[in-house]
Amino acid sequence: MEIRYEHGICLEDKNRKVILDPSRQSDIGVVTHGHMDHLVKDAYMTHHTLDILGVRTGERRGKGIHYGFPRPVGGFDITLYPAGHVFGSAMVMVEDVLYTGDFNTDGGKTCGKASAYRCNTLIIETTYGKIDYRLPSKKEVIDDMLAWTRSEVDEGPVVFGAYEFGKAQEAISLLNSIGEVPYVPEKVARLNEIYNKHGVSLKYRTGTPEGNFTAVVPPSDLKKSPGALVELARKNNGTCAYLSGWCAFYSFFHSMNIDAQFPLSDHAGFDELMDYVKRCQPERVFTVHGSAKEFARSVEEELGIEATALK
Ligand SMILES: [Zn+2]
Repeated sequence: MEIRYEHGICLEDKNRKVILDPSRQSDIGVVTHGHMDHLVKDAYMTHHTLDILGVRTGERRGKGIHYGFPRPVGGFDITLYPAGHVFGSAMVMVEDVLYTGDFNTDGGKTCGKASAYRCNTLIIETTYGKIDYRLPSKKEVIDDMLAWTRSEVDEGPVVFGAYEFGKAQEAISLLNSIGEVPYVPEKVARLNEIYNKHGVSLKYRTGTPEGNFTAVVPPSDLKKSPGALVELARKNNGTCAYLSGWCAFYSFFHSMNIDAQFPLSDHAGFDELMDYVKRCQPERVFTVHGSAKEFARSVEEELGIEATALK
C-alpha cells in the first residue's frame, strides 16, 4: 500500500484509495475530529463529529460511523477507535495501517481515551514531537486548576479561556465536578448541546451573571476586545486563566492578559508519543503535524524503527 500526502493522508493500493483528514471535501475521506482544521463535508466521521460539523458549519453533511464497526470506504475496510483528543475524535485503522489523528492516551472526562493497537504501519500525529515537549501529569494539572478555582471564586468571578470545542467542554465538566455551573457564551452553549444529546452531561448557564461566578469562554474573548463575561469579571475584581497544553512551555500572561495558566492538553506529550509507538509495535512509522521531522529522528534513534515525516 502506498502512503503519501495528497490533500490529506492518502492511502492507495491498486484501485483502492482513501484520504484521511482530507484538506477539502471528499467522498473517500475520513475526518478524525471536529477541530476546524480537520472538518470538511461529505466525508466519513463518527456520528458525534457529524453533529459537531453541523453546528460549526451550518451543514450536517457526511456519513456517520460507529466506533469499532468496520466500514468500506474507497475499497478499503476501515474501523474507527476512540482517540481521547476531543468529543467524537477517532483513530482510523485501514487494514494493518493505523492513523492516530490527534490523540491523547490520558483522554478526558468528555471524550474517552486512546488505546494502542498492534499494526504494521503507524501514522502518528506529533504536535508535541520535540524531545523537550514533556507534559506534566494530567492529574496534577487538574488538581492545580481546581484548587486554584476553589480559592479564587471566594474572592470574585473566575473566567477560563479555553478553545471553544473540546477544551471548553472539558473545563465545564471539571468545574461541574466541584459543584460549579459556569456561564458560557452562546457559541459554546450550542456545542454543549451536542454533548448532552449524546449523553455526556454538561451543566452550564447562559446570560448575564450576578455576584461571583465562574465562566468558560473562547481564548479570543480574553484578549484586547474582551467578551462580555470577561469584561464583567474584570470590572468586579475577577481573575482570568488560560487552558492549553502549550502553557507547559510558554508564558501567555502578557499576550492573553491573564492571571494564571494551566497546561491542560488534549494531545499526547513527547513521552506518551514514544510509549505509544512502542506499544503498537509497528515495522514503520510516518509522522504528521507539528514536530514531525524531530519525532521521526527520535523514533529511529531510540527505537530503531524506520520513521519518515510525511509532509
Ligand atoms: Zn485537534
